[in-house]
Amino acid sequence: MSSILSIQNFTKYYGAVRALNNVSFEVPEGSVFGILGPNGSGKTTLLSIILDVLKATAGTYSWFGQPNSPDQRKKIGSLLETPNFYHYLSATDNLKITQAISGRGVGSDLDIVLKKVNLYERRNSKFKTFSLGMKQRLAVGAALLGEPMVMVLDEPTNGLDPVGIAEIRQLIIDLRNQGHTIIMASHLLDEVEKVCTHVAILKTGNLLTTGAVEEVLMDEDVVEAAAANLEGLAAALKRICSNVTIDTTAKTVNAVFPKGTAQLESINSFCFQNGITLNHLLLKKKRLEARFFELTNN
Ligand code: ADP
Ligand code: MG
Repeated sequence: MSSILSIQNFTKYYGAVRALNNVSFEVPEGSVFGILGPNGSGKTTLLSIILDVLKATAGTYSWFGQPNSPDQRKKIGSLLETPNFYHYLSATDNLKITQAISGRGVGSDLDIVLKKVNLYERRNSKFKTFSLGMKQRLAVGAALLGEPMVMVLDEPTNGLDPVGIAEIRQLIIDLRNQGHTIIMASHLLDEVEKVCTHVAILKTGNLLTTGAVEEVLMDEDVVEAAAANLEGLAAALKRICSNVTIDTTAKTVNAVFPKGTAQLESINSFCFQNGITLNHLLLKKKRLEARFFELTNN
C-alpha cells in the first residue's frame, strides 16, 4: 500500500501550550486510520493542520505524494465540526444548500450520496425528524459531496446514542469497502479496534506508536466460535479457557487465550467430543487493554 498522507515532524504551539511535539507518520492508501488518544492529546489540532485550517508551528505534510494544491483539496472530504443543518428542510434540500455553499460536488447526483449514507429512503423527511445517528450520517453525506477519495472525521461517534454509534461505525466500514481512505480521531480504544486498520496513538502531543492495529494493539488470541447451542458451547469452552463470553449480537462465543496458545484443531475436536458441532471457528489476535493504558497513562 502506498501512502496517501505523509506527516513530517509536526509541532504546534498555542501560545505557551504545546499541542503537538514532533509528530510524524504515514497513512496508507485504503486504510481506516485511527488517531487515538485521550482528550487534549492533540487529535483535533493534527486534523486541523492536515485540512489546512490551522498552520503548524513546524513540520510539513503532503497528500497523495504531491505538493498541496486546491486540486488536491477536492479529493479530501472532512467532518471537523457538526454542520448546521436546517431543521425544517429535508435531507436532500440540506445537501443542496451545502453543495451551493461549499461548491463541492455541484451538479452531482445527490441520490448517490444519500444512498451511500443510507438515507435515501428518508431523503424527503425533515431533518428535525431524524435520529442522532441519521443526523450524523447526513453530516458524513455532506462531507462526501464531490466524491472525495479521503474522508477526515473528528470523533465521528461523539455524542451519539448506541444505535447511532453502531450506524456510524458501519458506515465507516462501508465507505472503506467502497474505496475511500478514512482518517478519524477517536478517544475510544474499542472504537479504533472495531473499525480501524491502522492507528497512531497520541498522548499530550507525542506520538507513542503507530502501525497496523493488529500489530500495535493486539496481543492475545481470541477464538471466535459459533454453534446452534451458544450456551452449551460457552459452557464447554469454559472448561479449557478462563475467559469466555457470549456475544449475543454477533451470536458467537469469544474465548481469550494467552498469545500464541490457542489451537483451533484441538478446540474443534474438544467441542465435538462434548457433543457440540461448530459452525464457525476463527482465531483473531486481540489487543491487550493493559498495553493501551501502559502507553497512555505513564
Ligand atoms: P484532542 O482533540 O485530542 O482533544 P486538541 O487538539 O483539541 O486535543 O488539543 C490539544 C491541546 O491543545 C490541549 O491542551 C488543548 O487545551 C490545546 N488547545 C487546543 N486548541 C487550542 C486553542 N485554540 N488555543 C489554546 N490551546 C488550545
Ligand atoms: Mg478533539
